[in-house]
Amino acid sequence: MTLCFRVAWSFSYPSQLTRHSIFATRNAICQSKWSKLGYYRTHRPLSRLSSFSGLQLNSPPKTGLKLSSSQGDWLRRHITAVVTEKSQKFTEEAIRENIPKRVVGEVYHSFQLVEEEYVPDIDSVIRKYVHTKTGAQLMSVLNKEENKTFGVVFRTPPANSRGTPHILEHSVLCGSRKYPVKEPFVELMKSSLNTFLNAFTFPDKTCYPVASCNLKDFYNLVDVYLDAVFYPNLTPDVLKQEGHHFELYEENGPITIQGVVYNEMKGVFSNPDSVMGSWSQRCLFPENTYGVESGGDPKEIPDLTWSEFQDFYRKLYHPSNTRFWFYGDDPEDMRLQKLQEYLKDFEKLSVDSKVKLQSRWTQPRHFTFGYDAGSEKLEKKHMATVNWMLTDVTEDPTKLLALSVLDHLLTGTSASPLRKTLTDSGLGEEVIGSGMETDLRQLTYSIGLKGMAKEGCEKLENLVLDTFKRLSQDGFSQGEIEASLNTIEFMLKEQNTGSFPKGLALMLRSLTTWLHDSDPLVPLKFDVPLQQLKEILRKDTKYLNRLIDEHFIRNTHRAYVSLVPDPEFGSKQAEKERKRIEDFQKSLDKNGIQQLIQETKRLKEKQIAPDDPAQLAKIPALKKSDIDQKAPVIPRQVTSLEETQLLLTPLFTNGIVYFDMAMDIRQLPAHLLSYVPIFGECLLELGTTKEDFVSLQQRIGRETGGIRQSVYCSQMDVPNSVGGGYGPAVAQFIIRGKVMSDKTGSLFDILRDVLFDIDLSNKERLRQILIEEKSGVESSISPSGHRVAASRLNAQYTTSGWADEQMGGISYLRFLSRLVQRLDSEWESIRSDLEALRSFLLSRAGMTIQVTTDERTFESSVIPCLRQFLQQIPKDRQALKDVVPWEQRIEKQKRNEGIIVPSTVNYVGKGANLFELGYQPNGASVLAMKYLGISYLWERIRVQGGAYGAFGKVDLRSGQLVFLSYRDPHVKKTLDTYDDAASFLSQAQLSSDEIERCIIGVIGDMDSYQLPDAKGFTNLIRYLGGVTQERIQERRDQVLSCTNKDLVDFGSVLGSVASNGSIVAVGSEQSLQQANAQGLDLHLFRATEDE
Ligand SMILES: [Zn+2]
Repeated sequence: MTLCFRVAWSFSYPSQLTRHSIFATRNAICQSKWSKLGYYRTHRPLSRLSSFSGLQLNSPPKTGLKLSSSQGDWLRRHITAVVTEKSQKFTEEAIRENIPKRVVGEVYHSFQLVEEEYVPDIDSVIRKYVHTKTGAQLMSVLNKEENKTFGVVFRTPPANSRGTPHILEHSVLCGSRKYPVKEPFVELMKSSLNTFLNAFTFPDKTCYPVASCNLKDFYNLVDVYLDAVFYPNLTPDVLKQEGHHFELYEENGPITIQGVVYNEMKGVFSNPDSVMGSWSQRCLFPENTYGVESGGDPKEIPDLTWSEFQDFYRKLYHPSNTRFWFYGDDPEDMRLQKLQEYLKDFEKLSVDSKVKLQSRWTQPRHFTFGYDAGSEKLEKKHMATVNWMLTDVTEDPTKLLALSVLDHLLTGTSASPLRKTLTDSGLGEEVIGSGMETDLRQLTYSIGLKGMAKEGCEKLENLVLDTFKRLSQDGFSQGEIEASLNTIEFMLKEQNTGSFPKGLALMLRSLTTWLHDSDPLVPLKFDVPLQQLKEILRKDTKYLNRLIDEHFIRNTHRAYVSLVPDPEFGSKQAEKERKRIEDFQKSLDKNGIQQLIQETKRLKEKQIAPDDPAQLAKIPALKKSDIDQKAPVIPRQVTSLEETQLLLTPLFTNGIVYFDMAMDIRQLPAHLLSYVPIFGECLLELGTTKEDFVSLQQRIGRETGGIRQSVYCSQMDVPNSVGGGYGPAVAQFIIRGKVMSDKTGSLFDILRDVLFDIDLSNKERLRQILIEEKSGVESSISPSGHRVAASRLNAQYTTSGWADEQMGGISYLRFLSRLVQRLDSEWESIRSDLEALRSFLLSRAGMTIQVTTDERTFESSVIPCLRQFLQQIPKDRQALKDVVPWEQRIEKQKRNEGIIVPSTVNYVGKGANLFELGYQPNGASVLAMKYLGISYLWERIRVQGGAYGAFGKVDLRSGQLVFLSYRDPHVKKTLDTYDDAASFLSQAQLSSDEIERCIIGVIGDMDSYQLPDAKGFTNLIRYLGGVTQERIQERRDQVLSCTNKDLVDFGSVLGSVASNGSIVAVGSEQSLQQANAQGLDLHLFRATEDE
């Protein structure tokens, strides 16, 4: 199973704008709003505008629950046999019972304990240590969390935009003293049960975090990471591969610049949103390290020399410049011993890596930059932000919290006054800006608009300033303040970090002060500041007004940054690169050319040369005997209420009720299908006939922890014996809500109101929602071209893939464009379509409810309100006359496509359906594809080809297999690599040891760590798709018993994919045309235009 459904409400932390990681995790890929790989999509994450971050973390769920399923009416059944998780709020005593006693001032394993405190906000005892010999700092966080987290962090402020910290972040993971293989990191991806494994570069620090629930596995990961950062095998070849180098294959061939980070950053700089984010930050800090791009600007990366690279490492990757973090239920002595093993060989070094403060301007400043927005329809492609440098991050925590609440008040929802004013102004299509940014030494605030005409750009700054002036006069209503406070308090209580380990989120939060030598504990304590702030706001009604006045009106450190579409920008960039190459070429004589060819060849050969098996064997890995042969069981109870299917996932949720309502849309008339996601937006954003959307949004904020909606498409799981194809389609519209149990009734009241009384006559509000949705979908194409490719490929083969594309892909974008155009001329028909969709959805037939909470809460708080709620909903669906369900209207068309977008990198996909090719995919297919992804594809497409990533996926339910590359300089070459995967696999000769490593890795993916709400959603998705525990076990068994022969056999399957599959590539016009000139027959078109 390769579906990703761990998405809900994970607040993107840390900010996407300021972080670069060694690879794009599947999680990161799936979390975005246009996730097509998992066929699961979350629309419009709150996080884009609300930066209140890091505190929202969750209680650890325990495993080993017994499943108890029962049928029948809940109320008639006596509450007994169900095993629900015990309370997980731990007292200080409970935690101290299991940890050794320590005395402040004493030295343990060469670490001196300098501070100890129990922090109830995160149920942890925290000990701060300093390594006596080197001065390295350690935060040892002790609690009962099984998802253990470790991080090693260096303060790495860069002096220029050559990307040194980012390239170094990649490079130290390319082999080390104890593990001298090409990429120990990749070996760990292959063979560990990690719940997190990645590395991040921030503007001022580099972090290497790992997490695992398995103690042995956890310390394996820690050991490999420690060896990597303190004893890496850094060589000029590694800098070439990860950074930059010139490449030439034959005498008259073209010389190119390649490098993993080089291409990664070209991709980042092809995304206007990233460019805007980068400049918005950098312009505010001309005097310090935040004024440069730590990820590296492709224009400057080639200037990085080996000696600068080496010096940076020597100076900053030293224990005296290190902060270590341990978090979880692992024994503290192991932590100290493991660190001492590495630190004992170092002496103290005086390292100056402090981030200097930026001095405050006395006058605001203006900045304008050009950017690549393609060559057409440029009138409305201006974008701009207004940015402020606020206060120091070490400011009083209550004040920082107040700023976060203010941030939410300003733009947290579409009804928030600043966001609403910008939307209502009609100056632009979509509100942008990161809001409050707390990751830097001095806080910043950023807000703006994209999709503006030139005149809009001129008006924006005054509009924003006037709004702040108005708000500093009028302040906020009590209702607005209550809604924002409740939203933030809910996040604090829920502590839900989604698939991001809680320990890691806390580490990053602690680092906001710790990195700058302030108290690391302060950001971890939120209850006292929260109570203080509530008290202040109760007594002082002008507090927020003054906060605005101080930080926005009277604060002259303000930068207005505008990006202007420049039709020549792309070619000017290409010209600069060409010039650099030319200059280099001129410097070469005939001999030099030959040398470069030899050098290119040598590097390529080195990159694919297999590692020495004896060295590989040194990478610590688990054995099959270390893992559970039985698939974990999520407790589930299936019943019905008011003739509606009802699932309960009985788990401890700290008093929160998670509610999912899925509505089957398989029978939906064809002409209404594409309306579903936009209708979902309207439900929560349009307002009702009794209440405008501002008041509705406030009610949602005040009474609940949030309501969202999404679309889910897949195929039913049918046993292989049933026949040679995939099962029927699954297509569901899902509304998801969460609420404290005592307010469950309010959640259902809101749902009732929006479903029954949505105000579909509000055309102007609908226009705003439509334009924003269209702009959001459009801007997600270029940075996530791989998702577009996967979506287009799936649409060619499977029913659910087709439907999904209609509700989220290029087809959906075109539908939205047409809808915007038709809005005035065909308003009545659009309105009646939306009304028809509403009546279709509003029926208990085809409805499935899922609730995650403990059983007592379910019985007492949920059932009575839910029963009442359901009783109001019609039982049967209204008969629709003369309409054909979409499933009978599908026109699947196989063809090769080239989708043109403004970008300097490509996304290349190839796919086919295995059922169609006469093959039944199974657990071994998943293993084969994972193995290809982290060996063959990684080596050829990333390491050799210079792409940021490439992977292959197979969906066992639909039989759909796809290869995808990410930020890729090539098209044809990548496709050839996909095709050659068949012969690579056919010749596989993996030892049983290597196979075992792959097995562990796949089982690790299958057993991914989930918080209770995610487990509940998994239950729902499995239920809707007919996935039984037996099937899950069967696939696990197939993985566990995998042999080399399975891989070899799968090679021939890939052979038929190579000859029968379709291609979809997303990239610039030039590279797609070049691919066609090389013999492809891609049908070229622009994403935004009808063909
Ligand atoms: Zn990177």
